Amino acid sequence: MIRERAYPVEPWHVRETRLDMDVLAQSESVFALSNGHVGLRGNLDEGEPHGLPGTYLNSFYELRPLPYAEAGFGFPESGQTIVNVTNGKLIRLLVDDEPLDVRYGELLAHERVLDLRAGTLHRELHWRSPAGREVKVRSTRLVSFTQRAVAAINYEVEAVDGPLRLILQSELVANEALPPQSRDPRVAAVLESPLQAEEELTTPDGGLLIHRTKVSGLRVAAAMEHEVYAPARKTIQSEGYEDWVRTTIGCVLKPGETLRVVKYLAYGWSSRRSLPAMRDQVEAALTGARLDGWDGLRREQREYLDEFWGTADVVVEGDPEIQQAVRFGMFHVLQAGARAEQRPIAAKGLTGPGYDGHAFWDTEMFVLPVLTYTHPAAVRDALHWRYRTLAAAHERARTLNLEGAAFPWRTIEGPESSGYWPAGTAAFHIAAGVADALRRYVQVTQDTDLEREIGLELLVETARLWRSLGHHDRHGQFHIDGVTGPDEYTAVKNDNIYTNLMAQRNLIAAAEAVMRYRDEAFHLGVTDEEAAAWRDAAAAMHIPYDEEIDVHEQVEGFTRLQEWDFAHTPPEKYPLLLHYPYFDLYRKQVVKQADLVLAMHWRGDAFTPEQKLRNFLYYERRTVRDSSLSACTQSVLAAEVGHPELAHIYLREAALMDLHDLNENTRDGVHMASLAGAWIALVAGFGGLRDHDGTLSFAPRLSSRLGRLEFSLQWRGMRLRVDVRPDETTYALRHGDPEDVLELRHHGETVRVTCAEPVTVPIPPAEVSGPAPEQAPGRAPLLRLPENEP
Ligand code: BGC
Repeated sequence: MIRERAYPVEPWHVRETRLDMDVLAQSESVFALSNGHVGLRGNLDEGEPHGLPGTYLNSFYELRPLPYAEAGFGFPESGQTIVNVTNGKLIRLLVDDEPLDVRYGELLAHERVLDLRAGTLHRELHWRSPAGREVKVRSTRLVSFTQRAVAAINYEVEAVDGPLRLILQSELVANEALPPQSRDPRVAAVLESPLQAEEELTTPDGGLLIHRTKVSGLRVAAAMEHEVYAPARKTIQSEGYEDWVRTTIGCVLKPGETLRVVKYLAYGWSSRRSLPAMRDQVEAALTGARLDGWDGLRREQREYLDEFWGTADVVVEGDPEIQQAVRFGMFHVLQAGARAEQRPIAAKGLTGPGYDGHAFWDTEMFVLPVLTYTHPAAVRDALHWRYRTLAAAHERARTLNLEGAAFPWRTIEGPESSGYWPAGTAAFHIAAGVADALRRYVQVTQDTDLEREIGLELLVETARLWRSLGHHDRHGQFHIDGVTGPDEYTAVKNDNIYTNLMAQRNLIAAAEAVMRYRDEAFHLGVTDEEAAAWRDAAAAMHIPYDEEIDVHEQVEGFTRLQEWDFAHTPPEKYPLLLHYPYFDLYRKQVVKQADLVLAMHWRGDAFTPEQKLRNFLYYERRTVRDSSLSACTQSVLAAEVGHPELAHIYLREAALMDLHDLNENTRDGVHMASLAGAWIALVAGFGGLRDHDGTLSFAPRLSSRLGRLEFSLQWRGMRLRVDVRPDETTYALRHGDPEDVLELRHHGETVRVTCAEPVTVPIPPAEVSGPAPEQAPGRAPLLRLPENEP
């Protein structure tokens, strides 16, 4: 955990004021830049020291064996793993005779700033070499949102004393040495030096490298080119070998003089394109970058982000740390999805190798709901990516003797890459997540073309999965047995309430879509009988409930399981999965992450307010939050059931997950779901946004710390701005026609908003909300409420 306040609180920047080697790897994730296509970890320009070097391309992976001690039928045999591709960030500097290395000499100043509006990572350092020579280095890096193959670095060295002889070596390096990625020698063999050289080429001011993976057969091309501005005579030359290309620039500076180098980088990869085609592709991308130049790239970056923040920004008054964190979160969420273009949005985006670069249900249930309201074009692309994986999902369903599509629990390109089936294959709920993300996207954008072209089929194939996975009992009730819900400590059980409620909505959505697109549905082979069977299953869906203690059951029989012995579980035994066998976790009432509580968020229409409160109190005492996907949902429900102060504490846990490294794994990449969760906790929690039935509904109510919360939503081509104060809320509509009217609900009352003028409505007083929720012993929220600002 980053215990001291690592980054000063500023509204639009994440600033690191000194270099702390103990958290170098974490800072590389926090400072990672990406556009959804290319991802660069925040490694130092000179490459060393590093926590974890990382350069990633979306969907560029190697296949590795999934070894089992005892294999079983249907176990996936190989998994996809993201590969660290050619590193183009490297710029080494020789100051007279000494390589600039922050571990030697004296680091007189070092600062890095992630600028959330400029979309750049800026670094400044002042270094005195062991021989006493001083330089100041300023470097600014960007991964372009407007030219998706392009990254660029503006690197300046100022001689403090002198004359100084500077040799700058700018490189492309493939197959960098990495910390071991697996203890299994079969896996390590594939992942060590995963790239096979195909071509290297140099020009005086740059060069390129083309490589190919050994097993997956993907080809990657990386190219660089430099512009050099030196006050005096300079030399420049390049040389290349199989795994590296280097451009060397030399010059002598007088005190106060500056050498400036702009390094343009271009990346491309393909499973099909030929070597010459790849070469041309990256060279063309470099030309595009040089056409704009450094200033042009920066300007476009800023314009792109101005447009994004126009809708995506959330203004929070009363907790400046949250203000910073929610913007940081939205920035990373955008970075993960902006230019993914029919490629996945992984659980860690392109910020690190965590989870092997896989996408999970995190995408559809945490990231896409946020992007739907703030940057829907990215959602359209992400849905297209899922659609592209449909063939693999069909095949997986066939292997499992099921109908329709069984989407993988974790994957990059479609095939199931989870080797642990109780918390992998059995987590069928991902199918309902895909359907729900689609439903919400269409509802918010009215993109009926997408619905017709890919949406219908996704709904039909997921409905088919549910119908074949579940069954009607002799009383007609529909059950989905032997599955795992979001809570991975309760696996392979009957009637997981989240799964059942989400499947119910999925089945109904499919039946309704079939009515809208009868011809297309006919081509998919859907008959009236089949659609009727979906409706029947939905209507008869079993929702487990314990009548005796009046709470819903997370799975059938959950409330009669043995309680977990929290009193004898010391703090160092968390996360439990690293210290207790799964068999023990599975048979006791202990919840890894919001599951039934998550159902109460996304299927809030299926519970009464009284049930929500009772359920919340019951599950709160049994939830350990061993996953970063929990706190934001607990925040949303705490707010809904009348505990805004607790909601605020959980909001802090979700929002500060990576800035404080609360789960101690930020080194592997930042947690997209939790970062998106900060927005969810604010907008769905304190703003009370729900979208169950095609209308927008709000129930805003702030915690006592917050003086104001303002956010915007895209809605059918319009932009709704919601400004929440302690006693009232103002709804304002923009970008619509003058006659457009938006009917929304505010605390249950209908409010009509037009573009002509904003509407301000009072917030009704809060009702008394029963006993204070208690957490599982020893599992109180990780962070406290902020000190009151003076
Ligand atoms: C969580 C899953 C999640 C995965 C990736 C696991 O720890 O339990 O729900 O999908 O991490 O974030």
